[in-house]
Amino acid sequence: MTAIQGKVPPIWLKPSVYQALGKHLASALPHEACGVLLGAAAAGGMLIDTYVPMRNVAPDPLHTFVPHPADWISALYLTPPPVGLFHSHPRTLPQPSPADFDGLSGLDDHFAVYLIGAPGSEPEHPFHLNGYNIKRTRIGDGALSFSLIQSQVQLLLK
Ligand SMILES: [Zn+2]
Repeated sequence: MTAIQGKVPPIWLKPSVYQALGKHLASALPHEACGVLLGAAAAGGMLIDTYVPMRNVAPDPLHTFVPHPADWISALYLTPPPVGLFHSHPRTLPQPSPADFDGLSGLDDHFAVYLIGAPGSEPEHPFHLNGYNIKRTRIGDGALSFSLIQSQVQLLLK
C-alpha cells in the first residue's frame, strides 16, 4: 500500500485548457483523444496553461491511444518540455487502465501530471476529468516503479 504524507497537491487548469480538453475529447469520438499538457509547478501544485493535441494512430483507437510519432517527438522538443499527458476514455470511466499503468514507464521525468477524460451524461457536465500525479519510486534493484496518485483538478477563476 502506498502511504501518502500530507495533502496531495492539486492540479490547476486554466479555463482555456479545460475547454480545449473537452473539445478534443468530443471531436475525437468514438476514438480516444490524446495530447500533452504544458505548465509549471505553482504554489501548492501544478499549473497547466496549455494543451497540445496529438493525433491518435493506435491500430485500435476505440480502446487505446498511441500518439503520432511526429506529434510526440515535436512535443518532447518543446521548451520547456511537457509536464503532463492527457487522454480520453470514450466508453469507460476516466480511471487508469492496466495499459495506462504500463505506459507510465515510457514517460520522461518531466511528466508529473496525468489527466483522463470521459464524456459526461448531462448537458451541464459535458465531460468528466480525473487528475493524477505521477509518482516514481526507486525500488530495490535501482529500477523505477510508477504509480498514479489521484489529486483534485481545480479550475483557475481567471
Ligand atoms: Zn486509458
